[in-house]
Amino acid sequence: MKAAEIAELLNEPACAHNKKEKSGCAKTKPGATAGGCSFDGAQIALLPIADVAHIVHGPIACAGSSWDNRGTRSSGPTLYRIGMTTDLTEQDVIMGRGEKRLFHAIKQAIDDYSPAAVFLYSTCVPALIGDDLDAVANAATEHWGVPVVPVDCAGFYGTKNLGNRIAGEAMFRHVIGTREPDPVPASAQRPGITVHDVNLIGEYNIAGEFWHVAPLFDELGLRILATLSGDTRFREVQTMHRAKASMVVCAKALLNVARKLETDYGVPYFEGSFYGITDTSQALRDFARLLGDAALTERTEALIVREEARIRAALAPWAARLKGKRVLLYTGGVKSWSVVSALQDLGMTVVATGTNKSTEEDKARIREIMGDETKMITDGSPKALLQAYKDYQADILIAGGRNLYTALKARIPFLDINQEREFGYAGYDGMLELVRQLALTLEAPVWDQVRKPAPWAAQKAVGEPLTALEVHHG
Ligand code: SF4
Repeated sequence: MKAAEIAELLNEPACAHNKKEKSGCAKTKPGATAGGCSFDGAQIALLPIADVAHIVHGPIACAGSSWDNRGTRSSGPTLYRIGMTTDLTEQDVIMGRGEKRLFHAIKQAIDDYSPAAVFLYSTCVPALIGDDLDAVANAATEHWGVPVVPVDCAGFYGTKNLGNRIAGEAMFRHVIGTREPDPVPASAQRPGITVHDVNLIGEYNIAGEFWHVAPLFDELGLRILATLSGDTRFREVQTMHRAKASMVVCAKALLNVARKLETDYGVPYFEGSFYGITDTSQALRDFARLLGDAALTERTEALIVREEARIRAALAPWAARLKGKRVLLYTGGVKSWSVVSALQDLGMTVVATGTNKSTEEDKARIREIMGDETKMITDGSPKALLQAYKDYQADILIAGGRNLYTALKARIPFLDINQEREFGYAGYDGMLELVRQLALTLEAPVWDQVRKPAPWAAQKAVGEPLTALEVHHG
């Protein structure tokens, strides 16, 4: 990828954070790729496309360290879960066999799995030795008649966020606009209802959570042409240009796709979230607003009234158990505010929220929801998190999987909210799952047990990590 192309992607005009930083919101700062390189970001964004063979062109470690690190689910093909790599070695580098190996890998993927398409992800090594991904992709497409899409995302280009955009750019250049949507099937047509086509961008169907929301779209007469990229198929991504509206589900990732769909194809978009009752309702309202169909607006309002009443009744017994509990939230991006609003819906108090990966827009939303006195945490080190937990007298830490052992060693309740989570929290029914998991975590009898002093040790304060010996015997 040329330096000018990278600079263009860094300078995403639709991103508020970028406007503030001026020098590019996904710019690499020292240490930034410790949270994922561009290759990682590109693969995360596209891997959920379920019927595609995803080939990582590089040393085995690039694929090995990143494979399947998100619990994204598919309702059909499972090809995306097969890790494919060219496994480049020193010998291949010295002998200049990178492109040849890649061509063979494509052949093997097509012969063995008949994929809808093949995506090629470059990594640092082939980018440094100058392998021509575009040329290999073109030759392979011509040879086998299967779309082969190059995703030029070498890790050293920059951050995970930049990788997301590179992935979006690859879809825009090579996939979106290459097919027309199928006609609306007779089974989806109902008298008096106009079916509108929509896109969801940045929705990954982690733990299958989008399936909580999808039936609502069906009921309203909204046909999801494609999600980029949870539980989607290659042929669906090809048709995204024909949608009448898009929703950007994650504020940062793939904003460039939404913007270009608007500028090049006139598809308007909005940013929203499916976490929490209020935000789910708002997202449905925003679709109705953008589509400008009075009958749809009416159906949407009726559905919201019905669903909110249903879910509030189901939540009541759980919410009573959680009311007043104090939460320390450490997550990033859209979740830093959308989960706050979901927890407030339950009568819980969010004592502080992490903003390390949040955009300026995210932070503004946090202030809007939590007030000007909001405590925002940027230091996510175990020590800082435990200190904040203690200072703000929290009852539970809600964070990503990498904080799991910090919490367990400190004997404090913990709920995983990030990509490794086991349960889906999106939509109205997702709230029920969230509340159930929160109650089960907070009320687990294990906390009383582990906080009792060991017979041979003086009791440590809650929040203070155990020593290795105590962990072993305790
Ligand atoms: S692409 Fe580069 S930075 Fe990313 S995992 Fe591979 S070697 Fe590391």
